[in-house]
Amino acid sequence: MVKLSNPQETIRILQKYEFQFKKKLGQNFLIDSHVTDKIIEAAEIRKNDFVLEIGPGIGTMTQHLCEHAGQVLAVEIDSSLIPILQETLAPYDNVVVRQGDILKQDIPAIAREYNGGRPVKVVANLPYYITTPIIMGLFESRVPLANVTVMVQKEVAERMQAKPGTKEYGALSLAVQYYAKPYLAANVPPNCFMPRPAVGSAVIRLDCLQGTPVEVEDESLMFRLIRASFNQRRKTLQNGIANSPELSFTKGEVAAVLTDLGIAETIRGEKLGLPEFAALANALGRKSVIKKESDM
Ligand code: SAM
Repeated sequence: MVKLSNPQETIRILQKYEFQFKKKLGQNFLIDSHVTDKIIEAAEIRKNDFVLEIGPGIGTMTQHLCEHAGQVLAVEIDSSLIPILQETLAPYDNVVVRQGDILKQDIPAIAREYNGGRPVKVVANLPYYITTPIIMGLFESRVPLANVTVMVQKEVAERMQAKPGTKEYGALSLAVQYYAKPYLAANVPPNCFMPRPAVGSAVIRLDCLQGTPVEVEDESLMFRLIRASFNQRRKTLQNGIANSPELSFTKGEVAAVLTDLGIAETIRGEKLGLPEFAALANALGRKSVIKKESDM
């Protein structure tokens, strides 16, 4: 069987079905077998794995997943791709294609139904317009995940791995590193896709952590603090937090907590790591509980 990672085969299928690319769905299909091999290797796909693939397109990556994994579920939003997938995946009996929006799927139910609740591997050449909601949605669903191996825009991969004090560091770095350990598997140039995207891409594997890397009493508060600190990058942390519509701490309250934690009052969010944000959230969280009790 000629694989779709062969560009001639991709062109033949696209012409046969008179397929029109939909830019708004982030449709850039892989046409390079080195990249599909690299993704299989990076995701450490084994014969007993269940793999959830997001956005199979015409099935290029899916064909390779079917050959290496035990069972594959591929969720594709574009209904015009379903007949194409029926043809390109016909040789495989270990794949189910579901038409739908990945953001509306009940991922924990998928893990239970297809994998008996065991950790799932996720593989995707992601539509770049919804990279962050897809990844955060997976993590926040608390579905058991082994790893998530995704093709993303190169700059996004850099932000996911960034350390405090660098210009790439931000809310996405902290959110990803709270749930996973990122590992850059490959840089992928535009000529590996049809049509060519305007940006460089990278394959990143996120090894999902068992438990959390820091002790935090109120995750939602920690993430609101993180967002507030990076929303106003040039402001000090205490100004960012005091100005946030999502939070109700005064500058004085933040300054007092920073001093208690041994952190300079003039610090900016970009200098703080997860342990400091967790400590800040725990201290401010306790302060607001005391404040509420004294109001009663
Ligand atoms: N996996 C294929 C490949 O590597 O050649 C296609 C990758 S293409 C970058 C992204 C795919 O995601 C497209 O097929 C697109 O239609 C699909 N997609 C976009 N938004 C989606 C969503 N919300 N849920 C599921 N699939 C989506």
